Amino acid sequence: MASPVHVFAPFGKALRPQMERFFPGRPVVCWSSAEEFAAGIGTVEYLLALDPPRQYWDRAVRLRLIQCLGAGVDGVLPAPDLPPSVRVANNRGNSAPSMAEFALALILALLKRLPGAMAAQREHRWQRFLPQTLEGRTLGILGLGAIGQALAQRARALGMRVIATQRTPKPHAQVERIHPPEGTGQVVAEADILVILLPLTPETRGLLSASLLEAMKPGAYVVDLARGGILDEAALCRCLESGALAGAALDVFAQEPLPPESSLWEAPNLLLTPHVAGAFPELLERALAAFAENVARLERGEEIRNAVDRARGY
Ligand code: NDP
Repeated sequence: MASPVHVFAPFGKALRPQMERFFPGRPVVCWSSAEEFAAGIGTVEYLLALDPPRQYWDRAVRLRLIQCLGAGVDGVLPAPDLPPSVRVANNRGNSAPSMAEFALALILALLKRLPGAMAAQREHRWQRFLPQTLEGRTLGILGLGAIGQALAQRARALGMRVIATQRTPKPHAQVERIHPPEGTGQVVAEADILVILLPLTPETRGLLSASLLEAMKPGAYVVDLARGGILDEAALCRCLESGALAGAALDVFAQEPLPPESSLWEAPNLLLTPHVAGAFPELLERALAAFAENVARLERGEEIRNAVDRARGY
């Protein structure tokens, strides 16, 4: 009989019917507690995971594949105790269109001042204001990957100029200049609107520091859809309060859920969304299909799709 496939996620048990559809005739085991994971990980070959516990990897002696549910793999890596033969895959690209759309929605909401218009509407106040334009503005993208490229294409169609960073710069038709990580400061200083789309790795943690935020153009905007931990949240609050930055939008936070006492809730001209930028109705189905495909590929002795470089961390 085929070996079982395992799922670990807070909502793991709810995935059983869909998992059984993607793995017909195969035992499916769904876990949502660290106790179940700790007790069983020693027998697992194929694991679909969202933020699994990190302290039991040395027990994972039969494990062949960890398929991460999303594009980010910082919930699994770094994992020094994980046996070196274990492959890690993600769902890179799956959310690229929805993420690019969400970035544009936030940028347009900020520049067209929609939060202020909605607040005035709730109070039945007729208060006119001056919307800003995207055309001719410089969009800086930190991390020109699958999502960054989807955003660059859409931003160009709206008449923006795009500059970006990549770990290893490769020319891109829609992007005027692509800098290596050492050029981050140049992109930050030149951008009218800066969008963070980097993976969270030891190299990118804390990258958008107070000094970089303070070096942005007066009246610029920052959007972070990538991961909390990359941007200095306290420094962002200070820049918004002083008016040095005109506005910002965050979908991701150092601590999630964002605690009710966080000063971010009250920061001026800050749009907050609860880590939903990449979500769309077919997301889960596509993630399960990718897991099924990678299990089948491994069993046929083929290379998996969307393999993650464990050493690089994304
Ligand atoms: P990709 O792996 O396709 O792209 C990552 C990009 O970042 C690559 O271009 C890479 O360069 C670049 N990069 C890596 N390290 C550095 C560095 N130090 N300096 C500059 N560039 C760097 O990922 P995606 O575009 O699919 O996703 C990006 C991130 O977005 C994910 O890791 C995830 O954390 C987050 N995300 C958030 C979601 C949400 O709901 N808010 C949903 C989906 C993703 P190179 O091309 O040279 O490798």
